[in-house]
Amino acid sequence: KYILGIETSCDDTSVAVLKGDPTSGQAPEVLAFELFSQEQMLAQWGGVVPEIASRNHLDKLAPLLDVTIKKAGVTLSDIDLVGVTTFPGLLGPLLTGLNAAKTISLLKKVDIFAVNHLFAHLEAVHLTHEVTYPYIGLLVSGGHSLYTLVRASDDVEVLGSTIDDAAGEAYDKGGKLMGLGYPAGRIIDDLAKEGDINRFEFPVGLKTSKDCNLSFSGVKTALRTFLEKNPDYYVKSPEDINQDTKDICASYQHAIVSALKLKLRYAIEKAGELGHKNLPVVVGGGVACNSYLRKVLKEKYKNVFFVEPKYCTDNGAMIANYALRNYESRIKYPATLSIDARSRFINKKEHRKT
Ligand code: ATP
Ligand code: FE
Repeated sequence: KYILGIETSCDDTSVAVLKGDPTSGQAPEVLAFELFSQEQMLAQWGGVVPEIASRNHLDKLAPLLDVTIKKAGVTLSDIDLVGVTTFPGLLGPLLTGLNAAKTISLLKKVDIFAVNHLFAHLEAVHLTHEVTYPYIGLLVSGGHSLYTLVRASDDVEVLGSTIDDAAGEAYDKGGKLMGLGYPAGRIIDDLAKEGDINRFEFPVGLKTSKDCNLSFSGVKTALRTFLEKNPDYYVKSPEDINQDTKDICASYQHAIVSALKLKLRYAIEKAGELGHKNLPVVVGGGVACNSYLRKVLKEKYKNVFFVEPKYCTDNGAMIANYALRNYESRIKYPATLSIDARSRFINKKEHRKT
């Protein structure tokens, strides 16, 4: 089967064409994968502006679809299924992708799979690794941070989650406070490589609660207070970046990663109480690109799998992959034309509606 994946839930417009067999359990082949990132455009606003993001998707999506399908060496008529993110995300951006998918469905009478963006982030691991169910999924992205028990591709139980900011937000907001630009995850990751994790102390959120919930608002506030007391550390221009900046990045990142590591232990314990011992761990979402998180978790756990960095941040390949894995519960044309998008994540098997 040929699967077209469309992702427009936030600020990245991405399209991919995959070839795979939904029954084989084998990794599909990524025939083409294109991404248009709005990062540079949105950097000047210091974050995502939903209205601007929607307009950018409208501009970029049609040409991107054209290019990707050509690069894959197929035509629109070859596509057997369209996978499109329908939740969670920003409503305007989601609707641009969904309407493109519906147009294709209308033209070619193809079916659609309405993709849960978060599950797709985790399941992207199968693009490059063989991981068996059940597994413990740690999703760390720009808008969410969750520990899950993944029993099957569409059977995901949330074991714990952040009670305030997401891990990616902790990076982005921290970077903004320091004057490092947006999005700051990769910038902090790079600067921290030459920094001292022990130079400054930042708090690990919910350190004493023996559950797998997370909190990142405290570490962010601690950084704000610290910078108010030490305004010289603020980076006004790239020339201001020095050893102090690197040490702050390393110490701040250490607090975030320590929380993720600590709470993973409780997530594993909780899965054990549910009768699932020694499960593999899968880490996905944009923050799964982080080199320090990768190092720390790989040192502690043998059976941990990270989504390939190019499939960690938002991309069409993970959306097509998820649609392919759930091929049997696709929505058939013409019911496809009444699919809706929504902004929030509610963990119900709503995408099973056919
Ligand atoms: P969600 O998936 O929750 O809707 P999103 O799609 O915006 O949110 P992703 O695209 O999965 O989020 O990830 C983006 C986030 O990943 C940003 O917060 C970014 O700073 C962070 N990120 C990217 N690379 C790194 C890195 N190397 N280290 C830490 N964080 C990173
Ligand atoms: Fe995402």
